[in-house]
Amino acid sequence: MFNGYLTLAPSCNVCGQNFDFADSGDGPAIFVMLVTGFIIVGAALYVEVVYQPPYWVHAIVWGTVALVLPLLLLRSFKGVLIALQFQHKAEEGKLDSDR
Ligand SMILES: [Zn+2]
Repeated sequence: MFNGYLTLAPSCNVCGQNFDFADSGDGPAIFVMLVTGFIIVGAALYVEVVYQPPYWVHAIVWGTVALVLPLLLLRSFKGVLIALQFQHKAEEGKLDSDR
């Protein structure tokens, strides 16, 4: 369903579903930040309590993880959110007078 790293293709190359409806907005970024923040903070606290490495080790390890992990997760989160938007027919709110 993607044409690049995060760019959507105009339509599905299997069934031809048009992706004009798809607009995940900030959703994928928010969920990726929540998930990676939870993982990184938890892992950093665990490593500090168990191993007490110098702070530069924390900076290198968690700085790298904080860059790589979101890049790995972002695409699949966007795919899931667009699939959910399609399944639930989610769209912008409209007033009754617009009908
Ligand atoms: Zn399809």
